[in-house]
Amino acid sequence: MNDICDNIHSIQDSIETTARRFNRPPENIKLLAVSKTWPAEVVRTAWSCGQRCFGENYVNELIDKAKKLEELDIEWHFIGHLQSNKSRAVAETADWVHSVDRLSIAKRLSAQRDPHRPPLQVCVQINVSEEASKSGIKPSEALSLLHQVRDLPNLKLRGLMAIPAKTTQFTGQRAAFARLRELFEQANRQGLQLDTLSMGMSNDFAAAIAEGATLVRVGTAIFGERVAAPQALKSGR
Ligand SMILES: *Cc1c(COP(=O)(O)O)cnc(C)c1O
Repeated sequence: MNDICDNIHSIQDSIETTARRFNRPPENIKLLAVSKTWPAEVVRTAWSCGQRCFGENYVNELIDKAKKLEELDIEWHFIGHLQSNKSRAVAETADWVHSVDRLSIAKRLSAQRDPHRPPLQVCVQINVSEEASKSGIKPSEALSLLHQVRDLPNLKLRGLMAIPAKTTQFTGQRAAFARLRELFEQANRQGLQLDTLSMGMSNDFAAAIAEGATLVRVGTAIFGERVAAPQALKSGR
């Protein structure tokens, strides 16, 4: 077996162990393989180990890999910051978008999604640590955006996503994820019927699972350390 398969299996084991430790059904936690900066052939390798959901941050990379791997049954998730002039390509290519952070981008995705296809599955990104440099909407403004996104055609509102400020301490990591979970619960008390909490990456997915993550986004722990993206791909951000 190759390294990528080994890594995927060991992360799945660790997801399972952590889920049991916190009394959660392991099958409620989906592993998203974040393949940004890695070529299509690397994605194909992960696919051949049974991985089906892949996350991309850069629009040009998403388009390139989706085209090269067209024949594979891959679920593509767009998880990067989305500029309006790139929304059409995402609406046409992705199955999921985790990074909806303003109404204007949600409206564009809705208008640009082919109504004959399944709706685009979306999460609203929350700036849970309220960092000035991070994308995502402020928690205090999230509920009103969620209601508006829920009402748009051709989108299916699924949940919330966040990238909390980095910390290596398990309790600190949990505290940030707990804030996202509380917002999720508040939204559901308002009838929003969210089922997805997209939180946790290579270094903090165990804490995210402890706080209710239903989808963890893991890159480095599957594919290894990323080298800088080739310029051609970077400029397509
Ligand atoms: C890169 C990235 C990940 C994966 O991060 P790792 O630390 O490599 O696991 C997850 N989510 C988002 C939004 C990312 O940009």
